[in-house]
Amino acid sequence: MPPSDAQALITFDQVVKRFGDLTVLDHLDFSVAPGERVTLIGPSGSGKTTILRLLMTLERVTEGTIMVEGEPFSHMPRGDRLVPANEAYLSARRKRIGMVFQQFNLFPNMTVRKNLTEAPVHVLKLSRAEADARAEELLELVGLSDKIDAHPTQLSGGQQQRVAIARALAMRPEILLLDEVTSALDPELVAGVLDVLRTIAETTDITMLCVTHEMGFARDVSHRVLMFDEGRIAEEGTPDEIFGDPREERTKSFLKSVL
Ligand code: ADP
Repeated sequence: MPPSDAQALITFDQVVKRFGDLTVLDHLDFSVAPGERVTLIGPSGSGKTTILRLLMTLERVTEGTIMVEGEPFSHMPRGDRLVPANEAYLSARRKRIGMVFQQFNLFPNMTVRKNLTEAPVHVLKLSRAEADARAEELLELVGLSDKIDAHPTQLSGGQQQRVAIARALAMRPEILLLDEVTSALDPELVAGVLDVLRTIAETTDITMLCVTHEMGFARDVSHRVLMFDEGRIAEEGTPDEIFGDPREERTKSFLKSVL
């Protein structure tokens, strides 16, 4: 069951996002509970990535509000009303959220260790020793302990993506956003990245919001699947409901196109 607003970690309330004349999200309402893993599926252009980008504060809402942990996220309190959040407010909130993109976006001129420790040292103010210990632990989790002193260019795409996942987790986010993290990989490298994400799903209680075309993965790890079409939720349910017994024609034809 979707969480009620009182229990929700993330709430979208009547969120509209427009780019010029194009309405990408159309009065969208949904909530995500703490520890819940939600997969967003649907045709290209249906607004899935925009949802993640709003949570990463890479985009701003046009209308409506986003709440995270019961606090305004898209807006900030000023006196007794809410006004659009400014950069300082957003940057404080963004620290609780990690994102992994389709393209690996590692810092190319830094070793893996530096990639994993820079933000924890500078943003979270961890000591070098603490950040190093955390980096080592996370590299073990993603199976790349032996690459700690390598540069990204010395790694395969799959290995780079596993480092990118470790780097996101190094900030100890409460929410992990995954945007088609295997789409840019050669097919033989996909399974290794998905296995790492499965391990994270099984061994942590991090809240995950995931956009993916990997339906097997979505079925295995998600608690709930949201099917998007034209900036709205066309259908939602458990993976068994959505993949096993979809009700909406749009869901059926979408699944036929990807399975
Ligand atoms: P999805 O992830 O479901 O493929 P997106 O959220 O990436 O969909 O995009 C939804 C729509 O918004 C697409 O039509 C896309 O072209 C458009 N869009 C996304 N970002 C921008 C932008 N910065 N400027 C203009 N249009 C954009």
